[in-house]
Formats: sequence, structure tokens, C-alpha cells
Amino acid sequence: GNNAAISDGGCKSHWAEGLCDFLAPSQTSADQIDNQLKKVGFSVSDVDIVITSHSHLDHIGNIEMFPDAIHVIQKVELYQAWWPESFQRGGAHVQADYDDARDFRYFKMDGDYDLFGDGSVVILSTPGHTLGHQSVKVKLPETGTVILSQDAIWMEENLEGYVAGLNYSVLDWTDSVERLKMIRDVEKAPIWFGHSIKQYEGMGNQWHK
Ligand SMILES: [Zn+2]
Repeated sequence: GNNAAISDGGCKSHWAEGLCDFLAPSQTSADQIDNQLKKVGFSVSDVDIVITSHSHLDHIGNIEMFPDAIHVIQKVELYQAWWPESFQRGGAHVQADYDDARDFRYFKMDGDYDLFGDGSVVILSTPGHTLGHQSVKVKLPETGTVILSQDAIWMEENLEGYVAGLNYSVLDWTDSVERLKMIRDVEKAPIWFGHSIKQYEGMGNQWHK
């Protein structure tokens, strides 16, 4: 069927000095997206579609591994990527991560979208963290419906009113958190957070089943 992957990053030599220490990734090359795909029986060239939540370095960092894929991203997030707010420039957005991806095939979103037309992968527009941040709702055969918040909700604390940092708009961010909580409650679907080590460890250090 259709293969979809979420792009994610790792430390890069062209990132600003100190950024790698700040992010304190425990990621090794074994955790990189290409090797993660191998663990479930795919290579990067098998991936037809890449969904990128937003253009921060730790989410778009490996997009250039997928030159032949269709890239699903909000149109305004492409604007954000190539002209970030000055307070995020050089730090959170690293243009060298994606400058060679400018002429990739982009499926430019403008809001929500049922990607395969069958409800299996639904793009949810969740702006606030960035101008065009998006989350994803997926129906997994064994697990059922899961909401992948990405950076719309970093971790558990954000559910209870603790606002995450680095927001383009706190108002939009708050609306997006409320929206994902509503979908969670209506569909009885868990939210898998973008940056919760607690949740990741609680699932046995893996997201897939
Ligand atoms: Zn981010």
C-alpha cells in the first residue's frame, strides 16, 4: 500500500554552535530515520510520501534523504521555512537542512486533509508552534486511532495549560492544543506527544507495534 514517514533530524555540523548540547539528543545513528525504517523492513527509497509537521531543525532535518517522495506540508509552513521569524532564524530553522529540497514535489496543504481518502491518515492543521504546523491522525490496524501531535503538544504538561516555548503564536497554539484534546476525547484516541521521553519510555522505547 502507501508508505508514509515522518521526517526527523539529528545533530548537523552546520547547526549553530551549542545547539546540539542544548537539544541534548540521545540519538545515535541507529535511531536515524533511515535506520528506523530498516527496522520495520523499508529503505528510504521505499517511502512514497513524507509528512513533515513543521520546518524546525529536529523535524525537517533529514528531508533531503527523500528526494523522490511526495512531501506533505502546509503551504504557509514552506513560507515559514524560507523566511522564519527573526527570533527563530539560525536556531530553530536551519535552512541548510532543506535548501537542496526546494524543488522537491510538495503537496501543499491549506488546512486539514484526508490523505488517502479513507480516513487512515488525516492531516490536522495545528498552527501556533509555527505558522503552518500540522499534526497527523492515523488509524493503525492493531492500535486503532492515534493522534501524532508533533510539536503542537510537546509533552504531558502542555495539556494542563503549561505553554511550550518557541511559539509563533501563543493564541493559535492554545487553540490547537484544545482542538487535539477534543479529538482525543471524542474519538477516544490517545495523543502521542512530540517530545515526551516519559511517554516514549512508557511504550518500551518504541512508537510502533
Ligand atoms: Zn518545533
